[in-house]
Amino acid sequence: MLAAGSASVSTATAPPLVDPFGRAISYVRISVTDRCDFRCVYCMSEHMTFLPRAEVLSLEEIDRLASAFIRRGTRRIRLTGGEPLVRRGIIDLVTSLGRHLKTGALDELTLTSNGSQMARHAPALFAAGVRRVNISLDTLDPDRFARITRWGRLPQVLEGVAAARDAGLKVKLNTVALAGENEDEIEALMQFAAANGHDLTLIETMPLGEIDGDRVDQYLPLSKVRRDLARRYTLTDLPHRTGGPARYVRVEELGLQLGFITPLTHNFCESCNRVRVTATGQLFMCLGQDDQADLKAVLRRAASDAASDEAAIDAALDEAIARKPRGHDFVIERRGARPAVQRHMSLTGG
Ligand code: SAM
Ligand code: SF4
Repeated sequence: MLAAGSASVSTATAPPLVDPFGRAISYVRISVTDRCDFRCVYCMSEHMTFLPRAEVLSLEEIDRLASAFIRRGTRRIRLTGGEPLVRRGIIDLVTSLGRHLKTGALDELTLTSNGSQMARHAPALFAAGVRRVNISLDTLDPDRFARITRWGRLPQVLEGVAAARDAGLKVKLNTVALAGENEDEIEALMQFAAANGHDLTLIETMPLGEIDGDRVDQYLPLSKVRRDLARRYTLTDLPHRTGGPARYVRVEELGLQLGFITPLTHNFCESCNRVRVTATGQLFMCLGQDDQADLKAVLRRAASDAASDEAAIDAALDEAIARKPRGHDFVIERRGARPAVQRHMSLTGG
């Protein structure tokens, strides 16, 4: 359980976090664990070495940090991983953070999950104030699912997706578009999403971390997928932006909201409103750059009282956000090229 009296948002007004390019930080993604019960081919190698537990932030530390971000203007928090629902005590953390939804200090608390444990947790997530979840689903074919996730089972995930919806959660399915693997299934996934009232977002593979294969073989440009879809469907651009790399269309024939996350073929950095915290409390100001700030050290340095603890975290956030870069420089073009950044997606979260 989280200790009673977890950090609350102090009533003192604190200046919002704004980076040197005038972008206000209103969205934070927090990875609550680097561990996962799957080994997706684009995300992890089969034999991963996970972090020693002592290096991973405790639930209290995550709560204090999230509360500091909220005090400085964060309006949306997404918990991710690794697989967030395999973290012991995750529901306690979500329930604790839910207090910021009740006070109106936070607009949205959400999470990205592989769905394997969703059937078990969906009602508690809803009760804590979560209203939307992203669930990753790359295929509807059980054999293909087993091949892509290495350790996953499709029926368990489909059960999780249905349980989320039944609990009242709006589900967005995330599909990583993989050349020669699921490109023939995009329409089937669109139809599945539409038939079940879910949204769907397609993601381009990003060069994060060493994996067992070569990413050039996996890379499927979504510009091509979109061109192909536009021959068969009416795609109407939707104006809404999340400050991230997603662009949305409505597929008129299906009544489906379809997103495209194209970090490689589209530059989205000008409107970037987000930062990411790893499971070890490293703050990454940009998903595609290696520069980081060690917030764990600040969280673990003993403070004499709550006010000086808040002041220390605030100072660390100010210093870090002042270093947020203008943009990323991802490229997947050279066969055998090293990943743009060495860490895996499971460390920073999606
Ligand atoms: N385990 C959860 C899941 O799979 O949804 C949350 C963490 S996962 C790292 C978040 C998202 O990142 C997933 O949708 C996953 O498909 C995506 N992802 C992982 N590695 C990726 C990569 N190299 N390129 C693009 N997307 C990736
Ligand atoms: Fe686990 Fe998500 Fe990475 Fe797949 S994409 S290995 S489910 S963290």
